[in-house]
Amino acid sequence: KKILIVFGTRPEAIKMAPLVNEFEKHADSFETRVCVTAQHREMLDQVLTFFNITPEYDLNLMKPGQDLFGLTAAIINKLKPVLDDFKPDYVFVHGDTTTSMAASIAGFYAGAKICHIEAGLRTHNKYAPFPEEINRQLTGRIADYHFAPTTAARENLLKENTPLKNIQVTGNTVIDALLQSVEKVKKQPSPLVQQLNHQLQDAPVLLVTGHRRENHGDGFIRICEALKTIALERPALQIVYPVHLNPKVLEPVNRILGNIANIHLIEPLAYHDFIWMMDRAKIIITDSGGVQEEAPSLGKPVLVMRDTTERPEAVYAGTVILVGTNTQKIIKETNALLDNQQHFNDMSSRHNPYGDGKACKRIAEFMRSLVLETTNV
Ligand code: UDP
Repeated sequence: KKILIVFGTRPEAIKMAPLVNEFEKHADSFETRVCVTAQHREMLDQVLTFFNITPEYDLNLMKPGQDLFGLTAAIINKLKPVLDDFKPDYVFVHGDTTTSMAASIAGFYAGAKICHIEAGLRTHNKYAPFPEEINRQLTGRIADYHFAPTTAARENLLKENTPLKNIQVTGNTVIDALLQSVEKVKKQPSPLVQQLNHQLQDAPVLLVTGHRRENHGDGFIRICEALKTIALERPALQIVYPVHLNPKVLEPVNRILGNIANIHLIEPLAYHDFIWMMDRAKIIITDSGGVQEEAPSLGKPVLVMRDTTERPEAVYAGTVILVGTNTQKIIKETNALLDNQQHFNDMSSRHNPYGDGKACKRIAEFMRSLVLETTNV
């Protein structure tokens, strides 16, 4: 059987890379090819290099200032010749990006079965996050097989009348990627990491990332005000902030945080350097989905700069606290973690609800049994 794995952004690449490598071990059952849309270009390429993946198809469709209309149309149009050439039985997509949504439609038009990794996440508010919630709902509607990271995600799918037999709870593949990489990264620190290590000495580190559209504008201004107050009140604390390249993020961050001695504004880190940085950090403040899933495996408490979440498991497990973009709340919860050792220990020792690093094995096993079932009838 033929499998086409399609992705386009950095987080998708991180979460699909261990699956590509897993399917390679099953070459007797599957011919697997990778197609990247390159919705993110540089950030995608460094992940491919790290995981040793050379895509068979590269649509290379990132253009400056491209909007969702142009992007969606380009993905569907450029995927057609790929689907005509390879004729996959199964198209694998991931999560909630425009690539996932558009590739699902293209794969469906071409008669392939659609397999959705990280299926079933919902906020149930079609505008938050925009456009991710609609992307994942549409992908879920089109998909034939749903690989849910948690039982809560499976529940969401069941409520939408997805047949139980088509849903597998596997854990999140991001934990597979993390556990396969973390020791390697610690053993072979890059020159950048060595430099950061030297700069930071033994100081406690607060790591910050943020990129969501819903926080653009006032949200990022309030976040920056909070970080500024924390940095000025605690000169011994070092704040490391790899800033997303979107001008809507770069502008307020550079303007408000640009000249503060213990705030290090740096470019987005390559995945392997970011893992090192997460491991080095004491606390993480983020609006990222993937970081919320990864951090508990490294024992790091996370403050999440969002009001709604499609990842309630982390809130229930006590590994994250939602702080929104409320300046006072961000300051209060950061101070609580820095000043109250018991609270810090409690948050950092919780079980990670997102998996055990074996998600890709479970997915490949399911696909093998599916193929056996369909060839035996
Ligand atoms: N990440 C990275 N470099 C950075 C920041 C994050 O490689 O400077 C990784 C991180 O380990 C996680 C993923 O990128 O796996 C999260 O991506 P992002 O926050 O862009 O998207 P989301 O997870 O919110 O979809």
